[in-house]
Amino acid sequence: MTQLPSRARAVVIGGGITGTSVAFHLAQAGWRDTVLLEKADLTSGSTCHAAGLVTQFNPSPTMMRFRRYSIELYQRLGIFETVGSLRFASSREQLMEQQRGVSRAHAIGLDVDLVSAAEAARLMPAISMDSLFGAVWVPGDGALDPHTATFALAKAARHLGVKMLTDTQVTGIELSARGAIQAVQTPAGRIEAEVVVIACGIWAPQVAAMAGAFVVSTPVDHQHAALQAVEGAELPQNMPCFRDPDNLIYGKAEAGGVVLGGYELNPNARWIDGVPWDHAGTSVTPDQDRFEPLLKGAARRFPFISEAGIVKLVCHPDAMTPDANPLLGPVPGVRGLFMAAGLSLNGFGGAGGIGKSMTELVTAGESELDLYAYRPWRFGPVHRDHRYVAELAKETYRYYYFLRYPYDADEWGRPRRTSTLHHRMQDLGAVFGAKHGWERPEHFEAGRPWRRAGADQRRFGWTRPPWFDLQAEEHRAFRERVGIIDMTSFGKIELDGPGALALLDRVAGNAIDRPVGSVVYTQLLDHRGGIAADVTITRLGPDRFRLVTGAGYVNSDLGWLRLEQREEDGPVEIRETTEDLCVVGMWGPQARSVLEGLTDDDVSEEGFAFMQARAIDIAGFGVFAQRVTYVGELGWEFYVEPTVAVQIWDRLMAAGRAVGIRPGGYRSLDSLRMEKGYRYYGTDLTLMDNPLEAGLGFCVRLDKGNFNGRDALVAAKAAGVTRRLRTLLVGEHEYVTIYGGEAVYAEGSIVGRLRSCSYGFTVRRNLAYSYLPVGLGPGARVEVEVFGQRVPAEVSTDAVLKREPLVPHDARHVAS
Ligand SMILES: Cc1cc2nc3c(=O)[nH]c(=O)nc-3n(C[C@H](O)[C@H](O)[C@H](O)COP(=O)(O)OP(=O)(O)OC[C@H]3O[C@@H](n4cnc5c(N)ncnc54)[C@H](O)[C@@H]3O)c2cc1C
Repeated sequence: MTQLPSRARAVVIGGGITGTSVAFHLAQAGWRDTVLLEKADLTSGSTCHAAGLVTQFNPSPTMMRFRRYSIELYQRLGIFETVGSLRFASSREQLMEQQRGVSRAHAIGLDVDLVSAAEAARLMPAISMDSLFGAVWVPGDGALDPHTATFALAKAARHLGVKMLTDTQVTGIELSARGAIQAVQTPAGRIEAEVVVIACGIWAPQVAAMAGAFVVSTPVDHQHAALQAVEGAELPQNMPCFRDPDNLIYGKAEAGGVVLGGYELNPNARWIDGVPWDHAGTSVTPDQDRFEPLLKGAARRFPFISEAGIVKLVCHPDAMTPDANPLLGPVPGVRGLFMAAGLSLNGFGGAGGIGKSMTELVTAGESELDLYAYRPWRFGPVHRDHRYVAELAKETYRYYYFLRYPYDADEWGRPRRTSTLHHRMQDLGAVFGAKHGWERPEHFEAGRPWRRAGADQRRFGWTRPPWFDLQAEEHRAFRERVGIIDMTSFGKIELDGPGALALLDRVAGNAIDRPVGSVVYTQLLDHRGGIAADVTITRLGPDRFRLVTGAGYVNSDLGWLRLEQREEDGPVEIRETTEDLCVVGMWGPQARSVLEGLTDDDVSEEGFAFMQARAIDIAGFGVFAQRVTYVGELGWEFYVEPTVAVQIWDRLMAAGRAVGIRPGGYRSLDSLRMEKGYRYYGTDLTLMDNPLEAGLGFCVRLDKGNFNGRDALVAAKAAGVTRRLRTLLVGEHEYVTIYGGEAVYAEGSIVGRLRSCSYGFTVRRNLAYSYLPVGLGPGARVEVEVFGQRVPAEVSTDAVLKREPLVPHDARHVAS
């Protein structure tokens, strides 16, 4: 038996597929002094219950790449059966979803094809062709045996020097007084370590809590069954794996029969505030009633299944996060602590790539892939509510297969966070969407009762949305008269202290050291010049700044700033202040005249310049006003105490009535900002894009001294950027159903994929952004793949409408 060492460079906690993969990759990168600790045996968590199917097909480019790498790794280890996979479209709507998926997959270079129903039946003769509309064929997919795979990775890791200790539970994580990893504790003693990686599956939140860290996942049950072979209908072992999202099932051939799993529409969460430590390799009691609809679905596609008896029904939870994305990366505030958990059923597909990326993060501080969406600290205080988080986790599980349309909103766990102006929004007929727990108006249906949006697109499918004309009216109010919007959900972070300027100036591309009252639009950059956030920063005092970001990004940005803090900056307090202030935005050519009717302060062009902020008085109430714009029109954001938010809203609405003021929702922000060329973080701007490529070179001040990514940007500038974010006019004036991700072709080859898309109601054109080779500048002709058809598109100037006001630093990102 391996002796507990007294020290190791890295300790990996958890002996499932994730932990063994991380340990293997660390050792392969030269960190051979790595110890893996497992409280029971290897494969004692979700890993031992997996059905073992792996597909590369996934909407996220990073996850698709993880999976492609995982398969290559398993193939190298000789543990992967490459039998291909078919993903059936059992409805016309699903076929269209698959056309979008295939276009997205092509755009990132994945070998997939959409095949006809007849071709699918040729590849898999056992299926019925009833209600079969086609299938996605992924020849490189396949399956593995979970035990064999985990033990093979463990063996390869041991071979490179990793020590693995089973029956060794980690009971504590020791930190130094300065918040760095010092050691892990076990009943058999302690191991000193520089780095600890938590790969503890459903136990991860409680292990992270040993170091004071907060991460979020909920154990959600997953079931699969082994079904007997039926005489005369035995399945060949080399049959492709299958997925049938409309029937909610997946499976593979085994012993002539089938292993069949699926995603129930009424999922079950358990142990939502803590998993028993003594739970190990056993499955939990299955629920035959919940599985019954899946069996029925399976029998529709494979008629022999109605005669096949169940050999065994397996039920076990996996760690589902609220957004079904894993938790990967360092933990802010605890130097040396990393998470590799919350796999959300991405286990075997994700694990290989996760091991590689985690190793890059641990050994080099940065990963080759964009892990932004997986930051383990992306959830905030609202997610400390276990019941709320369980609702989110169950809903994402429900939609793992069940078709979710791009415009659909979450339905479960609502309402969770409401603005002080919520009832005013209700009175105006708001249709609410949800973001980071906030209820936010998507658009208004004046004269009708307010409602919460949900799976609304299920009713209108892949057609023009019914709210198209309402959005157009809201859009025109901002563009032609004046519009008003509740933006309370903005993420707000305050930085206070002598170190604030040094920290912000180091992480931002733009110059932050400007007079008090200045607002700076900037990207926060990583060391490669990649865009880590897109924010405005207002100087409230010599050492005090307010950073404003999208509602969904605030916890991500907050944690990242904490990771970037250096002792040499000097002391700085960084705290979230989102709920301290409501925000009302008002823009449009008439915005100044409305404001002038309510204030004695000078809000003229000279008296209140663009990108300036200061306290003013509106109808006797103190308001902090910022002259910025994301819609590209004259206007302000008003930051107000929640107690007076309704007063301000009502006064502005009353004063604006004469000029036709109209409340707008978040959908109209999208069409407004795209006409003016404004970018959106997460879609147009990511860690993989730099500001020069994004057309945001005007926000980068290479002359301000050193900052994150400066050297990389200087080099990129000298070499000349090779790609550039462009605005495309897709099709003609008629609405085109584009959502983002679609492949872009030039002269028959794929040259990019769509990022943001919207219909521009002023220019009456379908707008989309895409990074394209620099040679494809304004005037170039390209094509966009829309549901399998090539639609012509023209590259336009960045802003299809002239921006107001016409000053150089006139861009602004605000919405999320
Ligand atoms: C029924 C079912 C079917 C599935 N089918 C598939 C599939 O077909 N394809 C696929 O890709 N994925 C599948 N998955 C998902 C996949 O199995 C999981 O995502 C994956 O196994 C998670 O691996 P992990 O290593 O992160 O966690 P786990 O396998 O849960 O491992 C965590 C380990 O940490 C250990 N541990 C916890 N706390 C401590 C501590 N304090 N000290 C020491 N050790 C500790 C646990 O004992 C456990 O062994 C399925 C999941 C289920 C439940």
